[in-house]
Amino acid sequence: MCVLRETSREDGVLGTGILSMEMEQEKGKESFHIAMPAQAEAILEALNHRGFEAYIVGGCVRDSLLGRVPGDWDITTSALPGQVKSVFRRTVDTGIAHGTVTVLKGREAYEVTTYRIDGEYEDNRHPKNVVFTSNLAEDLKRRDFTINAMAYSPGTGLMDLFDGAGDLKRGLIRCVGDPTERFTEDALRMLRAIRFRAQLGFDIEEATRQALRNLAPSLVHVSKERIQTELTKLLLSDHPDYIREVFDDSMAPYVCAGFCRIRPENISIDGRVPPVRHFRWAALLRHLTEEEAGKILKELKLDNDTILRVRSLTRWWRIPVGPDEISVRKVMSQMPRRQFDDLMLFKRFSSERPETDEELSRIQELTDRIRERGDCVSLKTLALTGRDLIELGMEPGPALGEALESLLGIVLEHPEKNQKEALVQELKKDHKKST
Ligand code: ATP
Ligand code: MG
Repeated sequence: MCVLRETSREDGVLGTGILSMEMEQEKGKESFHIAMPAQAEAILEALNHRGFEAYIVGGCVRDSLLGRVPGDWDITTSALPGQVKSVFRRTVDTGIAHGTVTVLKGREAYEVTTYRIDGEYEDNRHPKNVVFTSNLAEDLKRRDFTINAMAYSPGTGLMDLFDGAGDLKRGLIRCVGDPTERFTEDALRMLRAIRFRAQLGFDIEEATRQALRNLAPSLVHVSKERIQTELTKLLLSDHPDYIREVFDDSMAPYVCAGFCRIRPENISIDGRVPPVRHFRWAALLRHLTEEEAGKILKELKLDNDTILRVRSLTRWWRIPVGPDEISVRKVMSQMPRRQFDDLMLFKRFSSERPETDEELSRIQELTDRIRERGDCVSLKTLALTGRDLIELGMEPGPALGEALESLLGIVLEHPEKNQKEALVQELKKDHKKST
């Protein structure tokens, strides 16, 4: 029986999860219920029905206990992959060699993985082989942190062999077993520790932290994609500033070349910066040049759209946009509409920007007015096109491009001149001046 009670931990994390419920002891056993999606429960039941053990496991148990909404519901089972496939109608062989079969239920997909023991690790990252086992304890033992090593099923309750629930209550990230061994096996876990710390606002247990500092150089063996995924999750969390610990714990040189150009003392990411990839990365990289930022992101294999948007923000955030319509139009003309909107939003949360709050609001008003009127701010809406100029007798080539740019310059200052006739007149004036 549980009595729901809202609690607030010292770090401000509010919990309505099972941890914050008072649990009555029933014959020495804590009894409570994790509400899981009906399909996940149906998968557990179907496997049980065929005589296999099955539990939800890992992140979803952790998040349920904390009262957070789990991102996905992973299932662990004693059934071998072939047996899992025989139980369900629609499955996908996601990672059969590692024991993972995806079971499709309605529109949802659930990863069902056979209990396994990871073989000897090579290259500080990958187990040479995996061995399936029928023992849940073995499977929980291979997981990274105590808070991630719990399993639950409605029939059996919580399987928590390493006091993960205790660490959740204490707000601690602690390796399962010996931290030095665990980080030596897989160096990515070191970054995961800091990522979970940032997501949950937890501390890293002392021995785990010490091992992480000692083994920082082995991060060099981890692929850039995996490093990036963890750093991005860290940056999108409620504590993006904790990325500073990647520097404090000496991991930064192994993230990628150029990462050390970020000066730890410059790291301050306003928690109000929207938790969107390009905003948070730009907040981290804003003191670098556009080129430096682009190089880091490319090396970390971020997608091109994010790279483009971060580059644009790092280039522009310190440049004043106002104070009048002309200067606003000039900045607008330098980038696509979406990037200008990014810039205005980003500036709002950058304390070192050149504008005050009031000036920024004023610039936003001017922007809205410019857009409502439909002022021309790019060659696309200039009343005279390249084709028009050719019809007027100009040769295609660089001079034609320059003429269009100079006309756009005029229109940015005098939007009323964005008419074919007026622009032809301007061209003629220009021509006269140069002859
Ligand atoms: P998220 O909310 O980000 O999905 P998660 O804990 O579910 O967090 P996943 O990467 O989805 O993390 O992994 C699922 C589970 O697999 C983890 O909870 C953990 O038990 C185990 N796990 C994942 N990566 C590792 C690793 N590198 N070493 C050991 N165990 C791992
Ligand atoms: Mg997960």
